[in-house]
Amino acid sequence: MARYTESVCRLCRREGTKLFLKGDRCYSEKCAFTKRPTPPGMHARSRRRASEYGMQLREKQKVRRTYGLLEKQFAQTFDQASKLRGVPTGEALLVLLEMRLDNVAYRMGIGSSRPMARQMVLHGHVNVNGKRVDIPSYRVKPGDVITVREDSRSIEFFKALREAGNRAVPKWMDWNPDTLEGHILQRPERADIDPNFSEHLIVEYYSKL
Ligand code: SF4
Repeated sequence: MARYTESVCRLCRREGTKLFLKGDRCYSEKCAFTKRPTPPGMHARSRRRASEYGMQLREKQKVRRTYGLLEKQFAQTFDQASKLRGVPTGEALLVLLEMRLDNVAYRMGIGSSRPMARQMVLHGHVNVNGKRVDIPSYRVKPGDVITVREDSRSIEFFKALREAGNRAVPKWMDWNPDTLEGHILQRPERADIDPNFSEHLIVEYYSKL
């Protein structure tokens, strides 16, 4: 599948916020956005204030890039969210994105960034309910058990993950570092998801298409 191949740090500078796509580096002084928080490109400083449409577009791009989806995948997820009853579309979109297996793996620490967690899933290091699932977009549900595969536990990254012990995870899941196993306890709520996302702008963006 086609994927974005340029420096991901450019994406953070483009969106004007940290997207945390490079693991530990994002929290260090080497972070490109910390060093240079201006948009990439020669004329970045002279750009005019964004229009209403521009802000909606940027918010959509920010969330899409945070979760690492291509345009078509993101639009499909929005479409699914718009069909869910009983919850605002923007919130439903974020919940569906959070429940992707690559995001869940990231939240549990099976990867220090979402791109790395996606690779862990793609390479077959993750089981769901005892079966290998190598589809990053797989949607988890309450009651699912996520584990690092037995054969993969000798990999240095997973040894370190076990030795690191308890880590903070969102309240809709748990994580046991000794068994490298986590459980989905419930669906995430809006309060469990990044408060910096303005999902109403994404809804407005798609309402104009
Ligand atoms: Fe973004 Fe991380 Fe690169 Fe910083 S180091 S610019 S947060 S991807």
